[in-house]
Amino acid sequence: DALNNSLSQLKGINVSFEFFPPNSEQMEQTLWKSVERLAPLKPSYMSVTYGANSGERDRTHEVVKRIQTQTGISAAPHLTCIDASRDELKAIAQDYWANGIRKIVALRGDLPKGMDKPDMYASDLVGLLKDVADFDIAVAAYPEVHPDAPNSQFDLLNLKRKAEAGATQAITQFFFDAEVFLRFRDRAAAAGIDIDLVPGILPVTNYKTLVRFAGMTNVNVPDWLHKMYDGLEDDDQTTRNLLGASIAMDTVKILAKEGVRDFHFYTLNRCELSYAICHMLGLRTQA
Ligand code: FAD
Repeated sequence: DALNNSLSQLKGINVSFEFFPPNSEQMEQTLWKSVERLAPLKPSYMSVTYGANSGERDRTHEVVKRIQTQTGISAAPHLTCIDASRDELKAIAQDYWANGIRKIVALRGDLPKGMDKPDMYASDLVGLLKDVADFDIAVAAYPEVHPDAPNSQFDLLNLKRKAEAGATQAITQFFFDAEVFLRFRDRAAAAGIDIDLVPGILPVTNYKTLVRFAGMTNVNVPDWLHKMYDGLEDDDQTTRNLLGASIAMDTVKILAKEGVRDFHFYTLNRCELSYAICHMLGLRTQA
């Protein structure tokens, strides 16, 4: 059909993959298998999360360094400012730069219980990083509005501040309705935000986790999605993975047709679904 025809002619698709540091031997193997499988698709970069307040920044750093040396692909650590002083952040940034890290995903991190006003927001962190070195900086964006924001316009202006502070790319929170992203793109353009807006694609592998996570992050899970998983609670994981792939592929097809060329995948350290979606987008393994 027309959608598939236009997909086969796509040019200039850029993808990035997000991973998290593993915390068991088995998860370690899953991660590196996924990195090796996805690296030949030549993503623009691979990013590695850091759980704010977890105190495990070193693990993020280790994974990032290994990705870069093992694959030659640019790797970007996520860095949060909620749990570090300005001096600590400067030292971390200098260390990253000295280790050949050129891209950072700059975040505030969730507020710990009991804190209602942080010392720094992500826009402050972007400024601090830019003062240390000329990093390429990505930030977070929320098509369905960040839960702490007083309203959607305030949140949009916050994104604009992050862009003005020097971010060149904004990765969105995941979403399930392509329209949600497209409307947000329009609103961002109308607000004069001219950095790359990259949809964060979450290929669903675990419906229950997803519903819990969506509730915490202000992401709407549409009725059709609930209905799609209805009756599969005790079904084999394969069925659920196939559904997850199909849902994400539909979203990505619509976005590609609407001119989106950059996609960020929340891989959750698994490669199968992201690989299949990238293949559908026309990406092929390169030597
Ligand atoms: P900010 O941009 O600082 O915004 C946070 C909130 O504060 C928003 O509601 C904003 O509207 C509001 N705000 C901004 N400025 C002001 C101001 N001056 N006064 C009052 N309110 C203000 N978390 C992790 O811990 N580790 C990760 O690795 C990680 N990776 C992520 C990757 C992506 C792509 C995304 C979308 C999120 C990620 N997060 C991660 C989650 C993120 O840390 C949380 O959503 C956090 O609560 C907000 O971070 P932010 O960078 O968007 O904050």
